[in-house]
Amino acid sequence: MELESVSVRYGRAKAAVTAVEDVSLTVEPGEFAVLMGPSGCGKTTLLRVVAGFERAAEGTVRVGRATGIVFQQPRLFPWRTVGGNIAFALARHGVPRAERAPRVEELLERVGLGGTARRRTWELSGGQQQRVAIARALATDPQILLMDEPFAALDAITRERLQEEVRVLAASSGATVLFVTHSAEEAALLGTRVLVMAAGPGRIVAEVPVPWGRDADPAELRGSAEFAAVRAELAGVMRAEPGR
Ligand code: ADP
Ligand code: MG
Repeated sequence: MELESVSVRYGRAKAAVTAVEDVSLTVEPGEFAVLMGPSGCGKTTLLRVVAGFERAAEGTVRVGRATGIVFQQPRLFPWRTVGGNIAFALARHGVPRAERAPRVEELLERVGLGGTARRRTWELSGGQQQRVAIARALATDPQILLMDEPFAALDAITRERLQEEVRVLAASSGATVLFVTHSAEEAALLGTRVLVMAAGPGRIVAEVPVPWGRDADPAELRGSAEFAAVRAELAGVMRAEPGR
């Protein structure tokens, strides 16, 4: 995934607002890159450009095939079952009907929701619904997984659990991940590299490598001095820059 001098504007002519200015960014295959920054700094805009939902006014965007995307809200179809939501994604990507049910079950197992295919989505907790959204994003084996503050609306315990699950899922799937968050804690835990953004206009102001490996135990990591130092460094960079 490669962005070169990308600028994005909303609106036209004199009324145009520059949401993102001159962002260059390369994410290598299999990397877990985190975009971190305060509200309004252009994180969602950048993700939407990578997803192809938004056009860059300037610069070039090169993205590999097939992306899966997870938003802050699960955005499931309430009139479909849990399995039906995932089957819909499979159908849209041309997976034959006969192959869908076993694939749905396999995907639900991967996110810890085996046996829930026939449940209604609104019977599930917020965390479970977000797991369904993750399963749906993984349905087509995407090369690239885009996640926009997927855990921001969840309670702290559920958030921690899902962070740990996504860490494992990302590593095992081999997908390249671009993950957006405003949390230094989340960025430090998940990222192999963290890109810190600032607003006015949105740009990348720092790049912080994460020194531990992806197999580091999350519980041990959260309690370690090394982790606290990286988290503090990230929070410090973010605090020094304007939000909006
Ligand atoms: P973040 O996700 O970091 O909170 P966004 O990418 O949503 O930031 O927004 C970046 C900037 O672009 C903000 O100033 C926001 O108000 C503006 N913006 C976002 N979407 C739109 C839109 N559809 N129309 C006009 N301005 C927008
Ligand atoms: Mg956003």
